[in-house]
Amino acid sequence: SETLKITDLQVAVEGKPILRGVNLTINRGETHALMGPNGSGKSTLGNAIMGHPGYEVTGGQIELSGQDVLEMDASERARAGIFMAFQRPMAIPGVKMAEFLRHATTNVRNPERKEGEDLIPMRQFRKELTEKMGQLKMDTEFARRYVNDGFSGGEMKRAEILQLAMLRPKFAILDETDSGLDVDAVKLASESIADIINVEAGGAEMGILIITHHDKLLDHNTPDFTHVMLGGRIVETGGVELAKELYTDGYDRIRAAYPDAA
Ligand code: ADP
Ligand code: MG
Ligand code: MG
Repeated sequence: SETLKITDLQVAVEGKPILRGVNLTINRGETHALMGPNGSGKSTLGNAIMGHPGYEVTGGQIELSGQDVLEMDASERARAGIFMAFQRPMAIPGVKMAEFLRHATTNVRNPERKEGEDLIPMRQFRKELTEKMGQLKMDTEFARRYVNDGFSGGEMKRAEILQLAMLRPKFAILDETDSGLDVDAVKLASESIADIINVEAGGAEMGILIITHHDKLLDHNTPDFTHVMLGGRIVETGGVELAKELYTDGYDRIRAAYPDAA
């Protein structure tokens, strides 16, 4: 099966070392939860995998089924099937959700496409989009909104879920903030993500790295593996019971066990 393999990854931000040797292998079909205290480097890992400028890889490797991901720019990574919803996505003035999705979907399905070449035919795209939005119980009006323009936390989440459903990436990094989502929005997001993973991908197609502060998000997306990051390293890996322990008891045990990490 295809894998996203991270080996001894070291990343600096503004010259300051943040990730200090991260090892993580995700197979398609697996859900991995990444936990850890604030500032431990979870978002930095996501940003480095996506090739976000400003996150300088100073050592180690990222491979997608043997391909060198570090050689690819951010858009090549997206075309290769790696998806990330950014914590604070940019608004794109004048571009509607539907247009944005038609471009992004075309590029993922046809990674060799050059700018200016044909997009997925409009009728076919409309049909797919309407179907997906129906399955996700989304109002089709939402696709006429400008991308991230004045979106609420809940709408941002919905936009992310719609992208996930349309793009069907091989690997998705879902970096959740603790900001702004009420319990209902988290529940809806959680159920939708589970539906997409299970239904769209036939249950065994997507590899997920989910960074979350909401234990509810894991109710419907039970992780196969839970990793704990501390001081820019993954210090422990376990199953769902590790996630439950950390939600209940916090990070005191981890900090005490790895005093040199932070
Ligand atoms: P987490 O997601 O686990 O809360 P982050 O990856 O966001 O942690 O941050 C890890 C460390 O890297 C923090 O000390 C943070 O200040 C620093 N950092 C991350 N991104 C940036 C950035 N864009 N500019 C400056 N510092 C950053
Ligand atoms: Mg954080
Ligand atoms: Mg973060």
